[in-house]
Amino acid sequence: MPTTDCCSQPGLMPIENAREKLLQALSPVHGTETLPLVQAAGRVLAEEVSSSVNLPPCDNSAMDGYALRFEDLASGLPLELIGKSFAGAPFDGVVNPGTCVRIMTGAALPAGADTVVMQENVAAQDESIRITCEVRPGDHIRRCGEDVPEGSILLKAGARISVAHIALLAAAGAGTVTVLRKPVIALFSTGDELRQPGEALAKGDIYDSNRIALLAALAQMDLQVLDLGILPDSKQAITDALRRAAQEADAIITSGGVSVGEADYTREVLEELGDIGFWKVAMKPGKPFAFGFLQGTPFFGLPGNPVSALVTFYQLAVPALHVMQGDQWNGGPHTLQAKLLQPLKKKPGRTDFQRGVYHTDDNGVLVVEPVGTQGSHILTGLATANCFIVLAQESGSVEAGEQVVIEPLGVPLG
Ligand code: AMP
Ligand code: MG
Repeated sequence: MPTTDCCSQPGLMPIENAREKLLQALSPVHGTETLPLVQAAGRVLAEEVSSSVNLPPCDNSAMDGYALRFEDLASGLPLELIGKSFAGAPFDGVVNPGTCVRIMTGAALPAGADTVVMQENVAAQDESIRITCEVRPGDHIRRCGEDVPEGSILLKAGARISVAHIALLAAAGAGTVTVLRKPVIALFSTGDELRQPGEALAKGDIYDSNRIALLAALAQMDLQVLDLGILPDSKQAITDALRRAAQEADAIITSGGVSVGEADYTREVLEELGDIGFWKVAMKPGKPFAFGFLQGTPFFGLPGNPVSALVTFYQLAVPALHVMQGDQWNGGPHTLQAKLLQPLKKKPGRTDFQRGVYHTDDNGVLVVEPVGTQGSHILTGLATANCFIVLAQESGSVEAGEQVVIEPLGVPLG
């Protein structure tokens, strides 16, 4: 893959191109599994599901009341009460002229009846009723198949199963569904300075926050992780880990070592072992992002700086992982327009993902303000933010009061 695609800063690829290239280069994993419905939330359907039943399965009552024949109401005479229809215990007889049946919400409409009158509009007396309000024919009946006709498609392959989907599938009687298997993602951090949270720190050490955050994010995204831990800045260790990861995983995510420092071996090893796609994206934070293939396995090299690692993960790796999961990626993150409350400094050249907090003000206007310091090592900013303020690559500084694009944070960052 060429590394020369470009934009206003030489050698930097616009983020839209980077995202597009990633999405085009990837395809869903092969392999499916059949799961009980309740375990399928968040997974991606492998095949279309049709309904084997009508929903509702039969005409039934939307109210507690009385089932009757509309034409009987013209006479104004009382109707004889001849039985009851409960949800789960229908009335077996027929509503003949001059009769009615007590009916509960969800109970099957008895044969002969065509209208339900709610009980609040009925004067009931021993074995007969009189109607006290105006009634329209067919009132308060839920029609057989009005929600889902038998044989119709409930969900298409590629749907990510939501709780509402589970309700629909369950209502249609689906006990299990076939979903794509979880892609396996190999993950490691690189850096001689990194320690596992909980360990003691020597001078110059820091805790490995990237891998821990990414483990959480990948789990939240329903991905299976092959955790290869923290690797030292050693060419051999990184070579061995990348070889293993390429064998055992569907994709590889690393953090650190993709910049131009003397201990940045990840990029060097990738260039030797694999086919690196690009490694500089016109975005801020997150310029040194690498993508490529290692023996056919896609590789995402995130920068080491903690905010850069998570922003590139969210902006570039997440859409790509959606494709691998078989999800129909909807073409981009969800964005809104908001009024900027403070000026923002920016030079043209890179798309800026400033961390911001948005809310609706007292006048009902959507407003946003940056979270303060925006350094790529300032994790508190990202932890406070509920959105990115996205300033386009060519945009310069923005004044307070201008409209800006915001991207509310969703799973797995929100
Ligand atoms: P690198 O990309 O390896 O040059 O790292 C850039 C910066 O990010 C350095 O300050 C590193 O110490 C820091 N860094 C690298 N990896 C991690 C990590 N896993 N967790 C937290 N900080 C990291
Ligand atoms: Mg490093």
